[in-house]
Amino acid sequence: MFFPPYPIYAVRGSGSRIWDADGSERIDFINNYSALIHGHNHPRIVEAIIRQAETLLAVSLPTEKEIALAELIAGRLPTVEQVRFCNSGTEAVLYAIKAARAFTGRAKIAKVEGAYHGSAETASVGVTPPPSLFGPADTPSSVPGSGNTMGIAGDVVVLPMNDVENGRRILRAHAADLAGIIVDPLVKNLGFLPASRAFLQMLREEADANGALLIYDEVYSMRLGFHGAQGAVGVLPDLTAMGKIIGGGLPVGAVGGPERIMAALFDPRQGARLAHGGTFNANPMTMAAGLAALEMLDQAAFDRLSRLGDRLRAGLREALRIANVPGAVRGAASMVQLWHTDRDIETYRDLVAARGENVDVQKRAETVFRYFLNNGMLIGAPGFFVLSTAITEDEVDFAIETALQALRTL
Ligand code: PMP
Repeated sequence: MFFPPYPIYAVRGSGSRIWDADGSERIDFINNYSALIHGHNHPRIVEAIIRQAETLLAVSLPTEKEIALAELIAGRLPTVEQVRFCNSGTEAVLYAIKAARAFTGRAKIAKVEGAYHGSAETASVGVTPPPSLFGPADTPSSVPGSGNTMGIAGDVVVLPMNDVENGRRILRAHAADLAGIIVDPLVKNLGFLPASRAFLQMLREEADANGALLIYDEVYSMRLGFHGAQGAVGVLPDLTAMGKIIGGGLPVGAVGGPERIMAALFDPRQGARLAHGGTFNANPMTMAAGLAALEMLDQAAFDRLSRLGDRLRAGLREALRIANVPGAVRGAASMVQLWHTDRDIETYRDLVAARGENVDVQKRAETVFRYFLNNGMLIGAPGFFVLSTAITEDEVDFAIETALQALRTL
């Protein structure tokens, strides 16, 4: 994370708190972009890591912990029967996309305009296109990300967010070449904007009708519930890309799905149609940390996190009302977004438009971010909060009070 003139440098963390190089203590509402669902240095996770480090750091063979973590995930996510571990959400998305291509023998991947899915090349198309390259709102252009080629963009079909009718039309136009559709049920970088059930249902129907695979990017949105985002939204994917919370704070990614797809692609006894090499794949350190973290992340933990999230959302809405400034609060479960605009952010284009309006959304977000920073809290820019089980109700209330003071300065 960078902010001018230079960011604070972290030295130490414990529970909900972090300390910087100047010795200042803050409540961490970013939690390493969601990965630290139990906050910093949870004793059980630290103990699991130390024990693992003393036993086996890294190895070129499978371990039983890898099976245990895969079984734990498979026991929770309705569509996941088998799992392949890698080292980041970016890799998870990369392999889910490769899996869809290898399984179908087709090239094209559909995604939602403005949705972030990590740094893999295909996934980088249509994430932050400039208005001059938008194309029509009902048929967005495939704009390559910086550092990508037009060739990459040519294999990506961009869908307007939550637009059932146009999405269906676009997918049908590419049906013969369509390998997969990737969607995040709760789009983080659009302010935890939920994909509507009707939209997900349409994607499911079109994937089925065309023989393409539906991929959920649950790298962030697995936080929606004990059974993952797919359990929360009810419409089921074929493949799931995972990351962050399944690694207990260590680097992680994973692709999961039903055996009929996973085994056909990855099982060496069946020829492993899709190579999945990786020096640190399923490394025992991450497996040990992930197991400890997920074992503690039971239904009760999800329920408590959701209550904390509801408390924060309600408090921030009240703060906006009292301060009488434009804004909106979005999000679900342990994920909270504070927008500084009255405009409904329903698409990436709404967000770009809001940034360009006379009430400078970006500037307000920065002011609030710095107010929090100077008053004992680290929040995400622009204005998001990701909770951990280490956070207390009092800390949430402190955040709400601080938000009110910050909003009053605008
Ligand atoms: N997909 C989504 C939805 C994400 O939010 C992220 C990371 N924020 C990624 C993929 C990429 O994960 P990683 O940073 O672990 O590569």
